Amino acid sequence: MARYHDAVCRQCRREGEKLFLKGERCYTEKCTYERRKDQIPGMHWQRRGKTSDYGIQLREKQKAKRIYGLLEQQFRTYFQRAERMKGITGENLLVMLERRLDNVVFRLCFASSRKEARVLVRHGHFAVNGRKVNIPSFQIKPGDTVSVKEKSRKAEWVKLSLETLPRRPMPGWLEINPDKFEGMIKALPTREEIGGTINEQLIIELYSK
Ligand code: SF4
Repeated sequence: MARYHDAVCRQCRREGEKLFLKGERCYTEKCTYERRKDQIPGMHWQRRGKTSDYGIQLREKQKAKRIYGLLEQQFRTYFQRAERMKGITGENLLVMLERRLDNVVFRLCFASSRKEARVLVRHGHFAVNGRKVNIPSFQIKPGDTVSVKEKSRKAEWVKLSLETLPRRPMPGWLEINPDKFEGMIKALPTREEIGGTINEQLIIELYSK
């Protein structure tokens, strides 16, 4: 499957903020963002003048894609589906991204980053409502439970991930039961619960041109 292969930390510098793509490392002094944030990737960036509206919108879309680890076509498909749904397109888009199984595994602290969560899901370490699901884009719904498969519960990565629980705030729409190695989806996330720095309106403006 196609993936984005550029250096990970370079993506943070390109978007001008920490995107937290490397898990625990992002919270330590090994994160080079503060030291190197002025070294914006791309040739001749110093010569560029004022950024156009299009440029600002493009960067916002790129940032969202990078945070959720998606390629252009995947992201555009989510947008098209969000447009067809009732409600506010921007919120629909973010809620669908949050409902991805790899994101839920990450939010439940079973993985330190979405990238790690995607690999773990693909390798079949998780079940939804008791049935193995190895599709990272699988959309969870309220009432679902996501659990670590029985055979994987003694793995070192589970122990290490659950150790980060006290440091990572659990969103209100999720609930974890570490003793049972499972998390419950209480409701769909609200815009406030999703938080973050994505300005979804800019993405809508970009795709509406
Ligand atoms: Fe971004 Fe994390 Fe790399 Fe820091 S360590 S630059 S937050 S990906």
